[in-house]
Amino acid sequence: MYELSDDLRMLRDLAREFTAKEITPRAAEYDESGEWPWEIFHKAREVGLVNLNIPEEYGGLGATVLEESIVAEEMAYGCSGIQTALMLNQLAVLPILLAGTPEQKARYLSRLTEEGLVAAYCMTEPDAGSDVAGIKATATRRGDRYLLNGTKTWITDGPVASLFTVFAKTDPEAGRRGMSCFIVERDWPGVSTSKPLEKMGQHAAQACQVFFEEVEVPVENRLGKEGDGFLIAMKVFDRSRPPVAAAAIGVARRALDEAVRYAGERHAFGQPIAHFQGVGFMLADMAIRVEAGRHLAYKSAWLVDNGQRNTMVAAMAKAFCADAAMQNATDAVQIFGGNGYSREYPVEKLMRDAKIYQIYEGTTQIQKRIIQRELYR
Ligand SMILES: Cc1cc2nc3c(=O)[nH]c(=O)nc-3n(C[C@H](O)[C@H](O)[C@H](O)COP(=O)(O)OP(=O)(O)OC[C@H]3O[C@@H](n4cnc5c(N)ncnc54)[C@H](O)[C@@H]3O)c2cc1C
Repeated sequence: MYELSDDLRMLRDLAREFTAKEITPRAAEYDESGEWPWEIFHKAREVGLVNLNIPEEYGGLGATVLEESIVAEEMAYGCSGIQTALMLNQLAVLPILLAGTPEQKARYLSRLTEEGLVAAYCMTEPDAGSDVAGIKATATRRGDRYLLNGTKTWITDGPVASLFTVFAKTDPEAGRRGMSCFIVERDWPGVSTSKPLEKMGQHAAQACQVFFEEVEVPVENRLGKEGDGFLIAMKVFDRSRPPVAAAAIGVARRALDEAVRYAGERHAFGQPIAHFQGVGFMLADMAIRVEAGRHLAYKSAWLVDNGQRNTMVAAMAKAFCADAAMQNATDAVQIFGGNGYSREYPVEKLMRDAKIYQIYEGTTQIQKRIIQRELYR
């Protein structure tokens, strides 16, 4: 566990080289334009860096959660907005991987890999985010179909997605046991999206509202049994949080590297600012966060890959790494002084991009709630 195997190192190097060539040089451009990075997506597809967790029989890489996490850290080092946009398919397909029938997998996973489509994950609603069981979207059975109604918000890649995995209540009176999950195609009547939402950071990872109005969803597009939705969502979190934590470490590591370089070059009072203990200790703390966070993220991935319960460690990883990204980005801005506040230097973007890690995939408070609950399990 303390050394990556040769295969993992090769994957890391592939992602690192791709990031240095294709992502880092274009990060500022996509941050400015807010466009979805189609060109980079297709290049990443060519080298096998998207659809990582889709099994090989459906055209993916069949990657483990640890492999996904390694790629996530590398790509987020270059731009966490582009990384999020490119890797969202892996979140969106998790309900299909976890609960799909062979027919559902063959039909939809193969389309994603063969046609180069994007999928999005639709849980959050305007009035229900942390409180997942409080969603209000409904799917009402009518013979061999469901009528889907509801509004989802903050759906990453929603503006460009062709497929959605959607959570809705099939029995609104039954609380968390009344939730089910469906595969919904974008071009079905009644599906529409808002304009991309304006946001603080991760501009390349466009997010929007998704509206479902009397959408007819065939019964064969339900994932698992009626009422399985909440359980599916919880299992998704165990697999989605490790790569998100690792991506946060990518941001934290980039902030550290930028700060180390700048502090070595910038002079004040006749010497490099790195010589001042006040700056050097900040750098040391940043390095500690990167090392510690990576171990937590990778361990949470390794546990789930090896069939062990990782709920608590994944929550620890997500909480710790999100805070590490935010703190390192903030400290990097501080070390850059006035230049840190300027858009001409890269750390201002890191600070805007880092904040979201404390919010999406469950806020830091929700992670701590999970840890607290697990301690008494
Ligand atoms: C850029 C972006 C991309 C996103 N992408 C997606 C996506 O692709 N798909 C998707 O489904 N969702 C997505 N989300 C939604 C995201 O997961 C939610 O915003 C998040 O879970 C928080 O929910 P909320 O915004 O409703 O906040 P709320 O749940 O209203 O929380 C508000 C505050 O209250 C705190 N709080 C709530 N409950 C508790 C509690 N029990 N104990 C302590 N504190 C609590 C929270 O920590 C937070 O600080 C995205 C959000 C953003 C901003």
